[in-house]
Amino acid sequence: MIPFNKPHLTGKETHYIYDAVYSQGKLSGNGKYTKLCQEFFQDKYHFSKTLLTTSCTDALEMSAILVNIQKGDEVIMPSYTFVSTANAFILRGAKVIFVDSLDDHPNIDPKKVQKAITAKTKAIVVVHYAGIACDMDKIMALANKHNLFVIEDAAQAIDSFYKDRPLGGIGHLSTFSFHETKNISSGEGGMLVINDKRFIDRSEIIWEKGTNRASFFRGEVNKYGWVDIGSSFLPSELTAAFLYAQLEHLNEIQAKRKKLWTQYNQLLANKSDFFGKKIKKPVIPNYATNNAHMFYLLLDSLEDRNDLIKILKNKGLHSVFHYLPLNESEYFKKHYQGEELKNTKLFSNNLLRLPFYTDLEFKEIENKIV
Ligand SMILES: *Cc1c(COP(=O)(O)O)cnc(C)c1O
Repeated sequence: MIPFNKPHLTGKETHYIYDAVYSQGKLSGNGKYTKLCQEFFQDKYHFSKTLLTTSCTDALEMSAILVNIQKGDEVIMPSYTFVSTANAFILRGAKVIFVDSLDDHPNIDPKKVQKAITAKTKAIVVVHYAGIACDMDKIMALANKHNLFVIEDAAQAIDSFYKDRPLGGIGHLSTFSFHETKNISSGEGGMLVINDKRFIDRSEIIWEKGTNRASFFRGEVNKYGWVDIGSSFLPSELTAAFLYAQLEHLNEIQAKRKKLWTQYNQLLANKSDFFGKKIKKPVIPNYATNNAHMFYLLLDSLEDRNDLIKILKNKGLHSVFHYLPLNESEYFKKHYQGEELKNTKLFSNNLLRLPFYTDLEFKEIENKIV
């Protein structure tokens, strides 16, 4: 059986962990490897400030604290996303306003965002689904007009671009994931990107449990203590050492994934059906690049999608679906109500993800299904 995902190792991970353990003499966070990872992103994508976190979930929670979400504030986001996008803001008392996806892509529809803005709106959270950019000019224009913060959930969007601008570098704040299922991984892991410089000082405090420890160690203050709310958001050096070994091979990893994506795309190029089921392939708008995070297909119905999962399973391929609409979830329905979101439902019912990981050789796929 070809699994849906398999972690990729570059070879240096345990070497750097060994170095962290035996040479650095520092296992807690914010040491040599944390700094190397943070600088990697600042140098490569010109992000003004980056902080490693233990997950993208944590980075989203930091964002909600930073934009100072208060009870009753409205936060607009897609319904077709992972629960963490919403939970982070719910935890701070926000009222989440779920907005529907575009007709041809799971990304949030800017026209529907515009309609959802009220006097209580504080922030818009966009999710670059499959690493494909949302239409950020439209989103940023709405945010500027209504004085809102924009947070990019760039969990899936490493090394992807919107009109030559790196994703994660456009909103006021952005969050990345290094979970095992993402392009670059440390098992569990994440990063907060601070693009709006007003947030930099406070982000370090929230990261360090609400203390000014980071500025104490830089010699900027002569004692450190409790100055704000915060939590334990920073990962240990062991995680950062693993992550750095992956980042050193980012280009190679991306080249392999893009090759696999192209091979899937070519296999299905002239096909309107796949094992008797009608399929549509992913749409990539011309303002967006493709970072080969995943390869998905759209079927005509829930029934077709579930049938195809079974057919592929019999052939030896593990394919999956995801994201039950958050607006229809048990938790959300208990506390809130809202209209049905047509496109969200469509992607939830009809989307199928094929096995996709860095070490997957397309020959393995061809051996099973061609
Ligand atoms: C993976 C993912 C997350 C969660 O990332 P973690 O690092 O596991 O917390 C959040 N949002 C989206 C869109 C994701 O794909």
